[in-house]
Amino acid sequence: MKNVAILGLGTMGGGMAANLLKAGFALTVYNRTSAKADALVKEGAQLASTPAEAAKGASIVISMLADDGASREVWVGEQGALKGVKAGAILIDSSTVSPAWIAELAQLTSEHGAELLDAPVTGSRMQAAAGQLTFLVGGSDRALEAATPVLKAMSKEIVHLGPVGSGAKMKLINNFLCGVQVASLAEGLTWIERSGLDRDKALSILKTGAPGSPLLEAIADRMVTRNYAVNFLLSLMTKDMAYAESEAAGCGVQLNTSQAARGHFEAAIAKGFGESDIASVIEPVREV
Ligand code: NAP
Repeated sequence: MKNVAILGLGTMGGGMAANLLKAGFALTVYNRTSAKADALVKEGAQLASTPAEAAKGASIVISMLADDGASREVWVGEQGALKGVKAGAILIDSSTVSPAWIAELAQLTSEHGAELLDAPVTGSRMQAAAGQLTFLVGGSDRALEAATPVLKAMSKEIVHLGPVGSGAKMKLINNFLCGVQVASLAEGLTWIERSGLDRDKALSILKTGAPGSPLLEAIADRMVTRNYAVNFLLSLMTKDMAYAESEAAGCGVQLNTSQAARGHFEAAIAKGFGESDIASVIEPVREV
C-alpha cells in the first residue's frame, strides 16, 4: 500500500482522510489547526506538525484547502509540503483554486521532480464522508493511473478532463452554475413566501419540474428550515464565483449572472453569514 499524506482536514478533507484510512492506506495528516486531526489519529493516522513533514516519504500527497492563498501557504510556504516531497511523488490539489495558481504549482512541482494533478471535487460534506465524491482531474495519464487507487477510495467517479489545469477550469464552471442557482432560489423562495402561495406545493413544483436539481432539492429545505449548519461555507462559494468570473473573463466571457448572484453572497457575508452554509444567502434577500 502507498504512503499517502493529506493536507487540510476541514469539512471535505476530514471525510476524505477517514476514507483513506478505512481503505488501509498508511496515512499522514496535517492541518493548520491540529486539533481537527484528533479523531483521525485515534483511527491510526500519523500527525505531522508541518506540511513538509507530512510530505516526507509519501508517494501521494493530497491537499484540500480553502483557496489559492491557503494552497500556496501549505505547498510553498516556509514549512511547505514541496520542501519535503520526494522525487517521483504525485501531488494532488483537490481544493477549488484558480487555474492560474494550478499552472504555477505544476511548474514548481516539476522543479522538485514530482508531478501535479489538479483534482477538485463535486459533492459536499456527506459525499466526502461517504467516499462518494466525483474527482475532476487534470494531468497526465501516467500520474492519474498511479493515483487512481487512492482517488477510488474517496469517490464514486473519476473524470479525466485533460492536461493539468483542466479540473480547476471545469470546477469553476460547475460552481458558477451552482452559485447562480442558489442565489436565484433565494429570490424565488422569498417571492413564494410573500406571494400567498402554499410554500410546500410551490417548492414541490420547482423540485419536480424543469428547474429541479439535486442542489435545489438540498438547499430549498435548508432555506425553509433556516438550517445553516455548514455543508459548504458561504464564503467559499463566494470565492469560487469570483475565481470563475476572472477565469471566464480570460476567455472573453463576462459572467453577468455570477456578478449579480455574488452580490447576494457578499451581502450575506456583510450580515455575518460568511461562516454559515451557502443556504443562508437567502437571509439578506428576505430582509429587503
Ligand atoms: P473548510 O472546512 O473551511 O476547510 C478549509 C481548510 O483549509 C482547513 O483545513 C483550513 O485549516 C485550511 N486553511 C485555510 N486557510 C489556510 C491557511 N492560510 N493556511 C493553512 N491552511 C489553511 O473547507 P472545505 O469545505 O473542506 O473546502 C475545502 C476546499 O474544497 C475549498 O476549496 C472548497 O471550495 C472546496 N469544496 C468544498 C465543498 C463543500 O461542499 N464543502 C465541495 C466541493 C469543493 P484550519 O482548519 O486550520 O482552518
